[in-house]
Amino acid sequence: MKPVTKHVCDQIFRGTLWNCNNSSFIAPDFEEITDGALAIDSQGKILGVGTYTSLKKLFKAKKETHFKDSVLLPGFVDTHIHFPQMNQIGCHGESLLGWLEKYIYPEELRMSHPKQAERFSSLFFRELFQNGTTTSLVLSSSDAGSTDILFKSAKASGARAIIGKVSMDRLAPKELTRSVSQDKDHSEELISKWHGKEGRLFYALTPRFSPACSASMLKMLGELAQKHKGVRIQTHFSENTDEIQLVRKLFPKSKDYLHTYEDFGLLNERTVLAHCIHATSSEISRMAKLNVKVSHCPTSNLFLGSGLFPMDLFSKKEINMSVGTDIGAGTSFSLWTTLGAAYTIQRLRHQDVSTAQLFYLATLGGAKALGLENDIGNFEVGKKADVQVINWKKKAILKARMENSQTALDRFFSCLFHFEKDLIEAVFVNGKKVFAQL
Ligand SMILES: [Zn+2]
Repeated sequence: MKPVTKHVCDQIFRGTLWNCNNSSFIAPDFEEITDGALAIDSQGKILGVGTYTSLKKLFKAKKETHFKDSVLLPGFVDTHIHFPQMNQIGCHGESLLGWLEKYIYPEELRMSHPKQAERFSSLFFRELFQNGTTTSLVLSSSDAGSTDILFKSAKASGARAIIGKVSMDRLAPKELTRSVSQDKDHSEELISKWHGKEGRLFYALTPRFSPACSASMLKMLGELAQKHKGVRIQTHFSENTDEIQLVRKLFPKSKDYLHTYEDFGLLNERTVLAHCIHATSSEISRMAKLNVKVSHCPTSNLFLGSGLFPMDLFSKKEINMSVGTDIGAGTSFSLWTTLGAAYTIQRLRHQDVSTAQLFYLATLGGAKALGLENDIGNFEVGKKADVQVINWKKKAILKARMENSQTALDRFFSCLFHFEKDLIEAVFVNGKKVFAQL
């Protein structure tokens, strides 16, 4: 028998694998491979996925890392998080509009200062890594300079990130608003400097929400979306009932809230709308037609009392869903914890969301929301090795719970409610270590 010629690869990661095969939210295909392995090339591309024994027959690795007692799973994808709000988690006693005015706008002004942006931007990505998140869709402040600093930190940290400078020209403190022409210039500068850089940094046009944007601002952003085809679009939609009333008052000619974005060409397959809690059936149908993506932000919705996201209505229309921490209304940087809250919200609605669906939301669902499903979201040959390694044996009570678990899905589910960031042993983006516990 002819011996099999082995391919040379840069490195092999060995450990138990949790993965979601290419699938949809409706039929997620979760898989565990005990004593599994990933073969990775020098560019961070996955060359092989399978059992350690099968991969060893095919690949000769320059380096092998064995994560004993640990699970390797795809790095999580956070599809809605505000950088300048990272120090405002847990501000008491307001619903959305009051909370923005009382706590958030003053903080966003402070974080627009280059010194503050520099001080906190590297901490921001480190905090994401420590929680197993490798990719994020980030709203920066309205300041172009501090957004540029945030991009620099993303570049230096090794994170995969899509970042946008918030656009607003009304109903906010004057220092945070920009004129339409200033905003256009700043957005174009950031696009030309950062969009597509390193193959892992991209730009997102970011109207804060329609109450904070005049029709001219929305029109200009819609034109930029048309001009720069790969650029993403992110904003808030239908989070709070007072917000919806305000939109009605400010846009009397628009049929509903969704129209305030639709009318200006801001809704397409590159758009991620955060929250969508109170969307009407007409709005949900149009979102499906336009292939708009949803970021569900459960800890934020519970914290501000915004409402309970009707996941089933979006699932029925096959709208792609993902999850966002929505820091600082969200209460945790961890998508593990966020998924636990997503489950709780559906229980409060007497609806079910399966464990495999929860896994999908933070991995492949997130990748699809950002148009990155050909690169990340699961372990598949040809995709990038964005990996988080979790060692649940570090926490005695979780270890005991895991030892009683019959299935991998049960073990994953229990982690959502036991998660602490010191369980994350290491994190890799493009096969490169970006974080490790000391
Ligand atoms: Zn938000």
